[in-house]
Amino acid sequence: MNGKEYVNKVLDEVKKENEGQHEFLQAVEEVLETLIPVFDKNPKYMEEGILERIVEPERQIMFRVPWIDDNGKVRVNRGYRIQFNSAIGPYKGGLRFHPTVNLSIIKFLGFEQIFKNSLTGLPIGGGKGGSNFDPKGKSDREIMRFCQSFMSELYKHIGENIDVPAGDIGVGGREIGYLFGQYKKIASSYDAGVLTGKGLTFGGSLVRTEATGYGLVYFVEEMLKSNGMDMDGMKVLVSGSGNVAIYAMEKAKQLGAKVLACSDSNGFIYDKNGIDVQTVKNIKEVNRGRISEYIKYHPSAEYHEGCNGIWNIPCDVALPCATQNEIDKEAALTLVKNGVKAVGEGANMPSTLEAVEVYFANNVLFAPAKASNAGGVAVSALEMSQNSMRMNWTFEEVDKKLKDIMVNIHSKSVATAEEYGFKGNLLVGANIAGFLKVADAMMYQGIV
Ligand code: GLU
Repeated sequence: MNGKEYVNKVLDEVKKENEGQHEFLQAVEEVLETLIPVFDKNPKYMEEGILERIVEPERQIMFRVPWIDDNGKVRVNRGYRIQFNSAIGPYKGGLRFHPTVNLSIIKFLGFEQIFKNSLTGLPIGGGKGGSNFDPKGKSDREIMRFCQSFMSELYKHIGENIDVPAGDIGVGGREIGYLFGQYKKIASSYDAGVLTGKGLTFGGSLVRTEATGYGLVYFVEEMLKSNGMDMDGMKVLVSGSGNVAIYAMEKAKQLGAKVLACSDSNGFIYDKNGIDVQTVKNIKEVNRGRISEYIKYHPSAEYHEGCNGIWNIPCDVALPCATQNEIDKEAALTLVKNGVKAVGEGANMPSTLEAVEVYFANNVLFAPAKASNAGGVAVSALEMSQNSMRMNWTFEEVDKKLKDIMVNIHSKSVATAEEYGFKGNLLVGANIAGFLKVADAMMYQGIV
């Protein structure tokens, strides 16, 4: 059996066993297709059934999350934790609270996390969790009661050497605080390293808040530089206005770029003078409001209903930082028509498979999420290290480590792509490099 036959056989099995899980199947297909040359070069991975094992989560936990709203009404949501792969370290990955969350979405995120975490070079396995709970419009107390109920079940399955959750969409510092408080109460133990993204007063790391956005821009800058360009003077679009988007905008501006637009799930703002990041921080981080409010503070900016229209604005660099599948074939073609030079993914799987084909067919530089958004989880792993040492590094120390990690991921992806005959293709390079470390660890650990 050659590599292609092996990959197709496993893909067929995965499709049969996970019917209807579109996002999970999309993520698996994208990774497996790029691994074909690995099996041709090294058939031992086939003999050991690495692929069959890697596509099956080690453990899947689903649970009821009952809570009481401010009107005294009983509400019930569904909680998930997928412990996907622990070959190179304890399961690590965020929690997503969003009404669209289902098993397929958590599995796709968990699967991606295996390779992303491996690429960081740090000892962390892959996992993900969350709930279909919608934080929008909920009071602080409701969020707290929900988090406490969620943790009352989750605590049985996590631990600083077992599984270490963090944030993702809908889970930020506030939620991690409530989750940590409840964990500590039930466990009767101050296990700081059981969650990352904690507040700075109780074991959090400097730069964790900024890490995904800053890391994305460090990576894109590296990619541009190795192709004779840089961020200085670039016109940039950033979708989203959450934690990833805000700090991607901040770093892009620090490097001299002009950020023209950002968005939320209702619409986008276009500010020809350049987005004022502090205003976005105030609207989103302080007031938890909608991005449409931006024009109150900057009347010369435009607000447009509908978030997808953002990709119609001509730009040099597109940084999708909102959610999965936000750039489809049509949006990718529009970006190309308007002269986009590079796409850097801040969200997880923001480009459809067809959009990625459009980038490659038109020589657009492409930074795939697993590589380019790994900065968040990388600094999470640095938070775990600091918790184990019971010490803190300075902002400058963590920022330097983050930058070094992103530069390393870039060079590793470039070198691996070239080694396997796909020069310049960072998607192939990142997938193969991420896979090899996990696969080798699995080989040494036997069939488990
Ligand atoms: N949710 C982030 C990601 O997609 C961070 C996960 C973490 O810090 O564990 O990588």
